[in-house]
Amino acid sequence: MTKMHNAVVTGSTSGIGQGIATAFAAKGWNVMLNGFGDAGEIEALRAGLEAKYGVTVLYNGADMTKPDEIRSLVEEAEASFGQVDVLVNNAGIQHVSPVEDFPDAKWDAIIAINLSSAFHTIKAVMAGMKQRGFGRIINIASAHGLVASPFKSAYVAAKHGIVGLTKTIALEGAEHGVTCNAICPGYVKTPLVEKQIPDTAIARGMSEEEVIEKVILAAQPTKQFVTVEQIAALAVFLCSENAAQITGAAHQIDGGWVAR
Ligand code: NAD
Repeated sequence: MTKMHNAVVTGSTSGIGQGIATAFAAKGWNVMLNGFGDAGEIEALRAGLEAKYGVTVLYNGADMTKPDEIRSLVEEAEASFGQVDVLVNNAGIQHVSPVEDFPDAKWDAIIAINLSSAFHTIKAVMAGMKQRGFGRIINIASAHGLVASPFKSAYVAAKHGIVGLTKTIALEGAEHGVTCNAICPGYVKTPLVEKQIPDTAIARGMSEEEVIEKVILAAQPTKQFVTVEQIAALAVFLCSENAAQITGAAHQIDGGWVAR
C-alpha cells in the first residue's frame, strides 16, 4: 500500500495526463485536474473519478501560458488538499513545420506550455515540498527530449530544456526528500499525435498512412505505440518509496527508439 498523496497533473483532460490522473485516483490519491476541453466532458471525468475511486478530484482550468493562473492553480490545490505531494507537468502541444516557415506564435506557445509552465508549477510547490521533506515531481518530456527529428524545432528545444530543468530540480531537492524525474515517451496514440499526422504528411510529402508506417512507428524498433497505461504505471512507481533514490533521470519508455 503506497502512501496517500495529493497530486496535481497539468494537461489531464486528455491523453497521457488523463491516464496518469486516473492511475493516481485508482491508488486512492486526491487529484487536481487541469486542461482544456468541453466543460461537460471535463465535469463527467472529474465526477466519474471521484465516484469510482472515492477520492477528491478537483478541476482548475489554468492556461499553462499564464504564470498567474498557474500560481492560482497550485494555491487552490494547496488550500483544498492541505498540501501538494506530487506534481506532474504534462500539458503540451506540438506544431510540425520546417523552421523557415515555423510561426513565431507557435514557437512562443510551445516554449510556454511545454517548458516554462513547469518552471512556474515547480516554483510554486517546491518550498512546501522541501519543508515537509517529501515531494515527487515528474516532467513528461519525450524521446524528443533526448534526440531530435526534423520539423519540430520548438518541441525538441522545449523537451531538451525540460530534461535540463529536471536535473537542476533533482539537485535542489536531493537533500530534502524531493525527487524530480523526466519520463520520455516515444509515440503514444493520443490526440496530440493524431493531429500532427496531416502536417507531417505535408512537410515530408507523404500520405498519412506512410507517415504512420514510415515516420511514427519506424522510429520505434518494437513497431508498436507506447500506451497511456504504461506511462501512468511508471509515474506511479516514481512516486513510491522504492523510487526514493531515483532522481534527475530521464526515463525512456519508447519501444527502443533512443537506443539506436
Ligand atoms: P493531448 O493533446 O492528448 O493532451 C494534452 C493536454 O494538455 C490536454 O489536456 C490539453 O487540454 C492540455 N493543454 C494544452 N494546452 C494547454 C494550456 N495552454 N494550458 C493547460 N492545458 C493545456 O496530448 P498527449 O499526447 O497526452 O501529451 C501529453 C504530454 O505528453 C505532452 O507534454 C506531450 O508533449 C507528451 N508526449 C506525448 C507523446 C505522444 O506520442 N502522444 C510522446 C512523448 C511525449
